[in-house]
Amino acid sequence: MRLQPPALAPVTTFVGLGANLGDARSQVLGAIAQLEMLPDTRLVAQSGLFRSAPIDAGGDDFINAVAQLETRLPAEELLLALQAIEHDFGRQRPYPNAPRTLDLDLLLYGNQTIASATLQVPHPRMTERAFVLIPLLQIDPLIQIPGRGAAHRFAPAVAGQRIQRI
Ligand code: ADP
Ligand code: MG
Repeated sequence: MRLQPPALAPVTTFVGLGANLGDARSQVLGAIAQLEMLPDTRLVAQSGLFRSAPIDAGGDDFINAVAQLETRLPAEELLLALQAIEHDFGRQRPYPNAPRTLDLDLLLYGNQTIASATLQVPHPRMTERAFVLIPLLQIDPLIQIPGRGAAHRFAPAVAGQRIQRI
């Protein structure tokens, strides 16, 4: 007799991390440690840390990274888990695009396209942002974005954005 529903097959997923308020570097590193502890989830790879100029956001430079996970959590559950980690690190949303202690964006969830009221995957702005593309390509230079092709195709268009490995 089966007491629990069958586990979902593991899915490869990528999370974008950013912070530009407080001790941004330690918040990003602390968040990666929290990702590692999520249930039914394994941290597969993490990019280096990058410093980037704010885009569509106020405040200081950002510290950014991307993490690759393998998870059995459904995408909406993973999003809730990411929001709980943001909350743990003191995330507040006083106004749109305010400086943030921690921002966790679900970039890719396997090869799935998701468009619900709360979750859009692939993340709609990921191909326009060097602070996502550069760390993502560092982990997987051949990564494909569902519906948009190889991620590296978008790198030339963001080459003017200030970003630096730290
Ligand atoms: P942003 O990251 O765009 O500056 P927030 O972090 O405040 O803003 O996110 C706003 C909303 O974006 C969240 O409430 C969430 O439901 C929604 N959202 C939609 N798609 C995604 C995604 N792929 N990753 C993270 N949040 C998402
Ligand atoms: Mg966000």
